[in-house]
Amino acid sequence: MENYKPNQNRSFSATPDSGLRKQIFLLKGSAGMGYDFKITKTANAKPKPDPNNLVFGTVSTDHMFEMSYSPEKGWHDGQIVPYAALQLDPATAVLHYAQLMFEGLKAYRSDDGRILLFRPDKNAERANISNDRICIPRIDEELMIAAIKAIVAVDQDWIPDAKDTSLYIRPFVIATDTYLGVRPSSNFKFYIILGPVGPYYKGGLSPTRILVEDNYVRAVSGGTGFAKVGGNYAASLISQQEALKKGYQQVLWLDGIERRYVEEIGTSNAFFKIDGEVLTPPLTGTILPGITRDSVIKLLQHWGEPVKEERFTIEDVYKAHEAGKLEEVFATGTAAVISPVGELCWKDKVILINDSKIGKTSQKLYDTLTGIQTGKIKGQFGWTVEV
Ligand SMILES: *Cc1c(COP(=O)(O)O)cnc(C)c1O
Repeated sequence: MENYKPNQNRSFSATPDSGLRKQIFLLKGSAGMGYDFKITKTANAKPKPDPNNLVFGTVSTDHMFEMSYSPEKGWHDGQIVPYAALQLDPATAVLHYAQLMFEGLKAYRSDDGRILLFRPDKNAERANISNDRICIPRIDEELMIAAIKAIVAVDQDWIPDAKDTSLYIRPFVIATDTYLGVRPSSNFKFYIILGPVGPYYKGGLSPTRILVEDNYVRAVSGGTGFAKVGGNYAASLISQQEALKKGYQQVLWLDGIERRYVEEIGTSNAFFKIDGEVLTPPLTGTILPGITRDSVIKLLQHWGEPVKEERFTIEDVYKAHEAGKLEEVFATGTAAVISPVGELCWKDKVILINDSKIGKTSQKLYDTLTGIQTGKIKGQFGWTVEV
């Protein structure tokens, strides 16, 4: 038995293993709660990819975290195992009715060798908001964070250190009852998988072309728009596919009732700088509460720059452009952090934003957020958490 204390920069130096020798570490949650995660090391460590040619979502690390839920035991048997395919009965509930939630965050390697997570408490909190919405039992948030830290520590050699690279972390829960009737599952599995990722846009920030979607909608009031659940994304794929065919990278979603109010951009939150003021739609149930979104609002407030959460229409955006007041548009999310928009197309009317160049606010937010995430900038918000 070894003791692992988060925040002490101690590495799991378990020997590259002979077979499946089991190693047990005691993890202490920051609330002082103890977690026992059994660790089974892989016998077949994979070669690591070239850190300068990483593509999003294609490579997985050597291990994964796994935990089970049953009505009798609650969440139990959290453990780290070699990364492997799942074996599921074809009648497993998640495969039919999408009772699945997921999260996304990143671990960064700082210049002085520390491993940093960005606001993982917010991911844990949001995971339970998603869980509640689709009848998945809550997971203790300290436990979730301890599990994230543990799996990242075990696979820490996979955190790339080339510029703008990081280790993407994907926690998710699936419904595992084998039953084809439509009802909430009683049993679940929670996993965390990891993969090294490169910069979202090769060669740095580059403005995207966005098609305003006025047919399909992403979310409706009373639906699941505020939750990170698989079904939302299946429903959005056709729109994304049609936008790509027309030469656009993403769509801008409008509200589900009037198809007028701006909601999100692809799988990111949307920000518009109009006449010196930054606007983003409020969290009214159809918007995913992005952690990058929240961080952007807090940074702008901290800098004393006007920022408002309020509803506005696509007509407002086009009118502001006509009046020469539409200064910047950008999307925010974990994957790209800040993604400036260079062009919008709505009902065949194309407008260029800031001459398709990166705006000052977008660049400053990108530099500051990535600076904080990688430990280069000391933020005063306590957003980074050491593994
Ligand atoms: C994940 C996600 C976001 C961004 O959230 P972050 O926490 O900033 O990564 C925004 N919109 C949708 C639809 C998402 O799925």
